[in-house]
Amino acid sequence: MIFKESGKISDGFYVIGPSAIPVYLLDGPAPILFDGGFTALAHIYETQIKEILGDRKPAYLFITHSHFDHIGAVSYFKKVWPEIKIGGSLRCREILAKQSAVQLIRKLNLEGTENLKKMGIPSLNERPFEPFDMDILIQPDQEVELSSGLTLISLSTPGHTWDFISYWIPETKILIASEAVACYQSDGYLQIEFLVGFDAYLESLIKIRNLGASILCAGHHAVFTGKDTGQHISASFEAANHYLNMTEGFLIAEKGDIDRAVLRVKAAEWDDRPWPKQPETAYLLNTRQRVKTIWARMNKHLKKKG
Ligand SMILES: [Zn+2]
Repeated sequence: MIFKESGKISDGFYVIGPSAIPVYLLDGPAPILFDGGFTALAHIYETQIKEILGDRKPAYLFITHSHFDHIGAVSYFKKVWPEIKIGGSLRCREILAKQSAVQLIRKLNLEGTENLKKMGIPSLNERPFEPFDMDILIQPDQEVELSSGLTLISLSTPGHTWDFISYWIPETKILIASEAVACYQSDGYLQIEFLVGFDAYLESLIKIRNLGASILCAGHHAVFTGKDTGQHISASFEAANHYLNMTEGFLIAEKGDIDRAVLRVKAAEWDDRPWPKQPETAYLLNTRQRVKTIWARMNKHLKKKG
């Protein structure tokens, strides 16, 4: 099945908040949250988490990567539930210690807030993003024994970012792959999410495919179960190769002019896409990164051939 709305996915597993910017909740003796969404949606996440947990509190929150739309409400959660243990990579901690990174995360969250306001979403949290520290430093490919008896395996799945971590819970066969797999947009377009490494992204997809997950959680808009998990991983490979061919074509036509190639990619996939969609600043940052990664890869291959 493909779940495009938030709510219950299976016994004890939920998509919290709008499915476009989800927080995942695995309930149990020590409830776990995955990722921290938008700052503006903090109240909405909090309300929904409390509706499910009642008097109980989330014990852990694990972060896949430090992008603005995955960590926005973490410091708010820490205020609401001071005992919650935040887990993420060392790189994520280093990024949050940089004033310039915090400024950018704030700016992107504010732009997101404006879009949510335009859509008429009520009870938005208008306070700015605040940085936070990690309670648990997650190493790549590490096994963490959780107090509930579950095992959490942090899978190094680079490509979207170099320090990207997917979370695998073997006992439940749930995989929080987030942007290590392609993400649907609201119009059904499959956005491929590699930013820093195209080949690393494909290798991560192979690692993910080999797990045989029963529940596959993408970064935005959808959760896949049953045979749709495998189908989505195949679709992610196809979308990656399509994106590579398209972008290489634009780069050749524009003789390596990154800015012009970015505009052509944007015209092909973003301009006519209806709202809600990724805000323009964040989309352009990501697309520029993808185009530069493909251009560097083309030059590397040319050198090898020459
Ligand atoms: Zn991201």
